[in-house]
Amino acid sequence: MQYKRILLKLSGEALMGDRPYGIDPKRLAEYAKEIKEVVEKGIEVAIVIGGGNIFRGVAGASNGMDRVQGDHMGMLATVINGLALQSALEDEDVHTRLQTALEIKEVAEPYIKRKAIRHLEKGRVVIFGAGTGNPYFTTDTAAVLRAIEINADAILKGTRVDGVYNSDPEKNADAIKFATISFKDVISKGLKVMDMTAFTLSQENKLPIIIFDMNKKGNLIKLVSGEKIGTIIDN
Ligand code: UDP
Repeated sequence: MQYKRILLKLSGEALMGDRPYGIDPKRLAEYAKEIKEVVEKGIEVAIVIGGGNIFRGVAGASNGMDRVQGDHMGMLATVINGLALQSALEDEDVHTRLQTALEIKEVAEPYIKRKAIRHLEKGRVVIFGAGTGNPYFTTDTAAVLRAIEINADAILKGTRVDGVYNSDPEKNADAIKFATISFKDVISKGLKVMDMTAFTLSQENKLPIIIFDMNKKGNLIKLVSGEKIGTIIDN
């Protein structure tokens, strides 16, 4: 196996499946199966889940809502997604713990790094909810932060696009995909991978980012087994 401990970042939007909003149980069940395969190989899996399928603070702010209030709503949305993912994983008999950056102790454990690592060592999937716990951040930043804290080998960002291209492949049919690219080149070419806060945090801490298509069945297990899937961003 290529990796011993991974941090998987799933966007909230990924959970929508073909729906315009919310959570598609079918998509969730598919993800749970993919994640189970990886756990069964003995790889330690931590997950950060987004909330964009339910609420984004910036969207609230553009409608006149206080940004911080909106971001709190966004963070709670990630907890809703985390609970849904936990439930889907448990349906597959995968042991999980949900840890949140905002304390909701009747519902989930508070985020404690040492405890998270202990869970991982015992083979439990640890889902991190509520982002970083702070407004004005994204769950991509939370994913990089948690990955560094728990010493993950890489951050695997599952998206609907299967890697990093020299232009938007959804708009340009001639777009070329990079198999690997350096952090520096992503910045100099003005490519969009993550928001800058998340990206530079990863760069500074030499944490590789892999962008791949999570919706293609079998991609996750292939990736952790060492197959060249998606784009690797490294130093
Ligand atoms: N959020 C936040 N702080 C964080 C992470 C998330 O305030 O550390 C809020 C923010 O409003 C964001 C929302 O939660 O828009 C959902 O997260 P994100 O947009 O990153 O989700 P994704 O795009 O991955 O679905």
